[in-house]
Amino acid sequence: MIPFLDLKGINAQYREELITACTKVIDSGWYIQGTECNEFEKEFAQYCGTKYAIGVANGLDALILILRAYKELGIIKDGDEVIVPSNTYIASILAISQNNLVPVLVEPDINTYLIDSSKIEGKITSKTKAIMPVHLYGQTCQMDNINAIAKKYNLKVIEDSAQSHGAYYKDKRCGNLGDASGFSFYPGKNLGALGDGGVVTTNDEELANAIKALGNYGSYKKYENLYKGVNSRLDEIQAAMLRIKLRYLDKEIEKRREIANYYLENIKNDNLILPTVREENNHVWHLFVIRTNKRDELQKYLLDNEIQTLIHYPLAPHKQEAYKEWKSVKCPISEKIHNEVLSLPIGGVQSLKQTIKIVNILNEF
Ligand SMILES: *Cc1c(COP(=O)(O)O)cnc(C)c1O
Repeated sequence: MIPFLDLKGINAQYREELITACTKVIDSGWYIQGTECNEFEKEFAQYCGTKYAIGVANGLDALILILRAYKELGIIKDGDEVIVPSNTYIASILAISQNNLVPVLVEPDINTYLIDSSKIEGKITSKTKAIMPVHLYGQTCQMDNINAIAKKYNLKVIEDSAQSHGAYYKDKRCGNLGDASGFSFYPGKNLGALGDGGVVTTNDEELANAIKALGNYGSYKKYENLYKGVNSRLDEIQAAMLRIKLRYLDKEIEKRREIANYYLENIKNDNLILPTVREENNHVWHLFVIRTNKRDELQKYLLDNEIQTLIHYPLAPHKQEAYKEWKSVKCPISEKIHNEVLSLPIGGVQSLKQTIKIVNILNEF
């Protein structure tokens, strides 16, 4: 079976270094908020080109804490609206609703699967305070358009970069394309920890300080609590694992690009729609997503041929039981995407032989 993602194989490449780093943390006697987290924050901020990076417990918390910090700083208040694509992973939407804010869904572009920036302005009201572009599948959104709209209406831009570590838009990396950005280090992401982890990047010092405090019980100074905060921190072992893996992130991306380019050049089947990459973007291929109206049939056919695929995502957020208040909401483009997409195997240790087999089998579908 060709796995969708060989995570064990990916981490095995760095086994010795990971073990050494882990042992160092064990022997240090210091497990939370120490050197590893501080150094990782510096290194990741430098990688993204931002002034600050704040380690948190996971990607969902990163997004929750950005919005929460804007609330504490008096920029956003309960009941305000945040614009978000209708075809994202549910975490982007949860971060908004968990802050007592209202997610306002905007349909994606059918070719790139990214928020359609031409549909944003029509959704802006006097309550709109932020736009949350999601760099879905590893490709950045049309940030020039989004930032111009944000400037015109005085909105914050909060990037969901959970799938796009290292991706550029023109000359800047994601994480540095808006006011603040949330990243996830869920093990299967392009930069994955060996457990949960996340980070917020920003150039805004006041926001960075508020997020740091909010994730640490609302405290800037031990036993002095300014906010009703939470416990959301990146622990030393995960930070140490991430410091090792960050050094190899560009290599992982390069490997994924080779596979994606092979797919793009060699998959030739009129039944299948291949992904569209916009010129100003250098896609990091967290997912290689094809589309067909025979999706379920294709997935079964591939499985019968020993190829594992996944669907990102089978059900749109507005169709989830958790958001039953959206039962009557219609997002036809998003629904079509959710019914037709299929993610092919891709990852840092997938061999050319495996990629060739996948292409040959796809071409016979
Ligand atoms: C993975 C993901 C998240 C959430 O990250 P976790 O670390 O799993 O909490 C948020 N948004 C998107 C688009 C994601 O893919």
